[in-house]
Amino acid sequence: MNTVSEAFGSKVFNDAVMKSRLPKDTYKAMQTAIREGKRLDLSVANVVANAMKDWAIEKGATHFTHWFQPLTGITAEKHDSFISPTIDGSIIMEFSGKELVQGESDASSFPSGGLRATFEARGYTAWDPTSFAFIKERVLCIPTAFCSYGGEALDKKTPLLRAMQAIDRQAMRILKLFGNDGVTRVTTTVGNEQEYFLVDKADYDRRPDLLFTGRTLFGARAPKGQELEDHYFGSIKPRVQAFMEDLNDELWELGVLAKTEHNEVAPAQHELAPIFTTTNISADHNQLTMEIMQRVAKRHSLVCLLHEKPFEGVNGSGKHNNWSLSTSTGVNLLEPGETPYENAQFLLFLCAVIQAVDDYQDLLRISVASAGNDHRLGANEAPPAIVSIFLGDELSNILEAIDTGSAYGGCEKTQMKVGVHVIPHFPKDTTDRNRTSPFAFTGNKFELRMLGSSQSVSDANTMLNTAVAESLRIFADTLESATDFTCAVHELILKVVKEHKRIIFNGNGYDDAWVKEAERRGLLNLKTTPDCLSHFVAPKNIELLKSHKVLSETEIRARLEIMLENYKKIVCIEAMTMIDMTRKDILPASVNFQKKLADAIAVKHTYASAADCTYETDTLITAAALTKAAYDSTRALEDALAEARAETEAQNAADICKDKVLKQMSELRASVDALEILTATSDWPYPSYGDILFNVR
Ligand code: ADP
Ligand code: MG
Repeated sequence: MNTVSEAFGSKVFNDAVMKSRLPKDTYKAMQTAIREGKRLDLSVANVVANAMKDWAIEKGATHFTHWFQPLTGITAEKHDSFISPTIDGSIIMEFSGKELVQGESDASSFPSGGLRATFEARGYTAWDPTSFAFIKERVLCIPTAFCSYGGEALDKKTPLLRAMQAIDRQAMRILKLFGNDGVTRVTTTVGNEQEYFLVDKADYDRRPDLLFTGRTLFGARAPKGQELEDHYFGSIKPRVQAFMEDLNDELWELGVLAKTEHNEVAPAQHELAPIFTTTNISADHNQLTMEIMQRVAKRHSLVCLLHEKPFEGVNGSGKHNNWSLSTSTGVNLLEPGETPYENAQFLLFLCAVIQAVDDYQDLLRISVASAGNDHRLGANEAPPAIVSIFLGDELSNILEAIDTGSAYGGCEKTQMKVGVHVIPHFPKDTTDRNRTSPFAFTGNKFELRMLGSSQSVSDANTMLNTAVAESLRIFADTLESATDFTCAVHELILKVVKEHKRIIFNGNGYDDAWVKEAERRGLLNLKTTPDCLSHFVAPKNIELLKSHKVLSETEIRARLEIMLENYKKIVCIEAMTMIDMTRKDILPASVNFQKKLADAIAVKHTYASAADCTYETDTLITAAALTKAAYDSTRALEDALAEARAETEAQNAADICKDKVLKQMSELRASVDALEILTATSDWPYPSYGDILFNVR
């Protein structure tokens, strides 16, 4: 492949390929299935499967797989080859419509939160024809949803697709009322900015904490961190550049619209942003991006860290989720319009988001909850755990005018005009300067900044879409029965502004004053995963997800169980890793070092009794005290870990992990990091922060 445009999408069975390879009526049937989310009938599927197989084999594929996104948050695949034996002992390459459309998976080892009884361990995977099949490492991958035989979703794609339908349904009702007759569908669009760290594989391999947990559990600060701010947007080092070039090539072949790449704030931290697309495709592409980043890094003897907080003392990694609504006619519904009428529609959609975020703060928080992300949210970096909306001054002023202006009271149509006529287009640089907001309006889209770098974007978009669908439903119910439409729109906007303005905050989200102010406003501050998860089953949340057919109560409870268990597992693995590192490497290393000091003192006493031993003695005494402290903390951590493990009730176990295990972990870390500072480099068992953060050149 010589040019990027030739290479782009060359491993994707996309529309152009379908058009050129499928018989006309099969292609048409495919189009309908994609557009309307309908199932293909088997005769059509057989033709598609055959064409897909021929195309894949020409591209070097030998196997196919249903590629799905179980609740582990990463993707899963099981490869089957195309080969099929013939009577004469040779083989032919086969792939049937049935194999394309539906697969069976002995899925008993995927988390199901009790949804799948063991007597019915199988789940099935069903093709999502709205996401194109692609070839990865000689395997034809078919994007699929993953369900139990009872029909419950066992994955992250199914609820996302359901939530996209829910918001489409409700947004269409609103658009009809505004007379948008040509529109047949509303989809949500998403572009995810993905942050990551790149470290040298040789350093990584020597750190059991990175190996087992993806983050450093120990490590004294390097003399230099990110304080000079010389890395952000700095020139990209040759090794990183080579990685990025390879990564782009692979992503482009897979049709991922990789667009922007730059260094991030922390040393060794980088970002990749694609051009936005339909939400479920964005979600698929983000999973692929994370997977391919890790694979390409290995080829360059690097390791790509996707953990939310790989290093203490420098920024962690997140994933900004840029989100908007787009009509089938290509109109961005969060773009302020040219006419008062368009602006009324814009304001109504804006208000739908405001109401949704206020009413379902807890669900948004839950959708980004994980043990890893707890190190960012509310921990004085990234956005706070308090959900609020940044609107920027212009838009806030307009809403305030609507709220306070008695001039807009009553609801004569002329006043309506005045109220919304003045919405300016927002030049990019006047919005989005406040990077501390968890949910910011950035001119013609919202940016949810709470996602952790390793998380699937599906959960956050599932919740956001469903919550906004609910506001739109309420609006549509009101407006459909209104006698004076314009007046009713104005009243709705006014009502939302009055009732939900508490969620709007344009100030500094990292400021302690905001925490107090948010509390005064009655906003939630759910600091950690165990703190927020119980809200998942609040009646209003169950009702929301049930009524929009996104998740049943059973599915919600199963997901809650999995999230709690996952939290516990992660914290326990981290605790075990710390104990192991301390007992096997750190304490013995420290004792060795102390012995060297003691020997040095003894030698000086013997041969040069007048020689000064201050360094040796001071260091020995401090090292011995820190060693004892580290040992005591290790034992206390072992006790806390045993308590967490013994607790069988999931919420209680998570609480013990948060209140006791994590607390002991941080005490242990404090002693060990202090020891590291004292100890000779040659005696310390692990590469330092300085090595890891600055070794990639
Ligand atoms: P930055 O946030 O770095 O200033 P941009 O605002 O240009 O950069 O874009 C960030 C991301 O937002 C990109 O992935 C871009 O494709 C995406 N984006 C832009 N418009 C939309 C939209 N209407 N819907 C969803 N995502 C969008
Ligand atoms: Mg951004």
